Amino acid sequence: MNKTQLPIRTRFAPSPTGVMHVGGVRTALFSWLIAQKNNGIFILRIEDTDKVREVEGSIEQIEKSLKWLGINWQEGIGIGGPNAPYLQSKRLDIYKKWANQLVENGRAYTDPYSKEELEEFRNQAKADKIPFLYRNHRRESVNTWAESKPLRFKSDPKPYRWNDAVMGELSTGPEVIDDFILIKSDGYPTYNFCHVIDDMMMGITHVLRSQEFISSTPKFLNLYEALNIQRPILATLPYVMSIDGQKKLGKRDGAKDILQYAKEGYLPEAMINFLATLGWNDGTEQEIFSVDELIQKFSLDRIQKSPARFDEKRLLWLNGQWIRRLSLDELYRRVHDFWPESAKQASEKYKMQILGLVQDRLKTMADLPILTSYFFDEPKPNWDMVEKDKYLSKLNIGEIMGLLKSAQIALSSSNNDAKSIQQNLNTLLETTGQKPAVLFSIIRLVISWAPFSPALNETLSILGPEKVNSRLKLAIDIATQISR
Ligand code: GLU
Repeated sequence: MNKTQLPIRTRFAPSPTGVMHVGGVRTALFSWLIAQKNNGIFILRIEDTDKVREVEGSIEQIEKSLKWLGINWQEGIGIGGPNAPYLQSKRLDIYKKWANQLVENGRAYTDPYSKEELEEFRNQAKADKIPFLYRNHRRESVNTWAESKPLRFKSDPKPYRWNDAVMGELSTGPEVIDDFILIKSDGYPTYNFCHVIDDMMMGITHVLRSQEFISSTPKFLNLYEALNIQRPILATLPYVMSIDGQKKLGKRDGAKDILQYAKEGYLPEAMINFLATLGWNDGTEQEIFSVDELIQKFSLDRIQKSPARFDEKRLLWLNGQWIRRLSLDELYRRVHDFWPESAKQASEKYKMQILGLVQDRLKTMADLPILTSYFFDEPKPNWDMVEKDKYLSKLNIGEIMGLLKSAQIALSSSNNDAKSIQQNLNTLLETTGQKPAVLFSIIRLVISWAPFSPALNETLSILGPEKVNSRLKLAIDIATQISR
């Protein structure tokens, strides 16, 4: 049967070497989307055979990151499944069995050389200006495995031409095929060997992985042949680059722990949308995609071949878009940990009203304190803001005081609903002959002392007449002091 007719099974197979970054999570997402779209199975396997690079706690971090994004796996770490265990260090016997079979078939052998001897071969190749190939030093007679020594693959060098579901037709010559190590002297298999075994045993139909593995693919093809297994569909995901497109995304260009974005008030919906469109589009101008839409529309053939650029500003924009799309109830649940300290005592009703007012202005949930703290705390007046304001700086202190006093009178007679407050503000515009930009700016500023605030009438309504009056009065007192 053709692989494409099998039930689709994809996997994410990270090594536990630290936190998850954007690139890795994107690989997970694309693999998951392919499985979801085809009612397939997505597997989480942990590749922990390089004990030197392993970082404690990484597996939990990986699980947590995927769970935050809603990338759920149907088999694998934590939940088990028909191909358990899913932790490679627990599968050593399996690799050993397959390694022995290769030995028996004359396709694997013990590496007899010491490190020093290998180094000498390397140096000699360098001196002769030819690429070093281990197989040039292969001793034909030894098809055995001395387990304290590395076991090498006996390769069959040949040219390859293969199709990569993203990169298209690729080809290489026999010179890239060498006798690579299958099992190291510490008994652990190499990635090159054990991922092939696992993908086969776990029935993986599509292998999606980062571009860094593309140069090793001919080796894998050679090994698939030696093992007589049909290879999965291979799809290479282009690198994620820094915003200037000059280098692979690194820590300095914003590659950080994906969970850090959760702490910074990003929504998983926005992150998924961002990651999905990092090197993929549906062929239209559409920018906002829900998970369901992605599942429906995602396909390997629309992944771009060229590297994607990591644009954190776009992520911020998407986050604002997604915050706006949530229902108020849902947003209220999500922002639980982001309210300013002083909001803890406030009622749910009051906070809901405020949240409804600022929802459109939140770029991240972490903006909540700066946008709302004056609703809970008395803001500290900062007259500098009046003096630096585009409109207010043109007025003298007497004019400002006049406006504040008129506002105090006008607002004291309002009913406290936003509509009648607006009517009074409109009347005030007429009686003072001021432009809205000027009049509303001074009121807005002295009741919030914040750099921006939402619709004035609604803000005043939620704050309530007492707070409004006392803040206007305080501003009048300050203006009086200044004018003396
Ligand atoms: N363990 C490899 C890594 O973390 C995975 C490569 C693959 O997906 O085959 O980079």
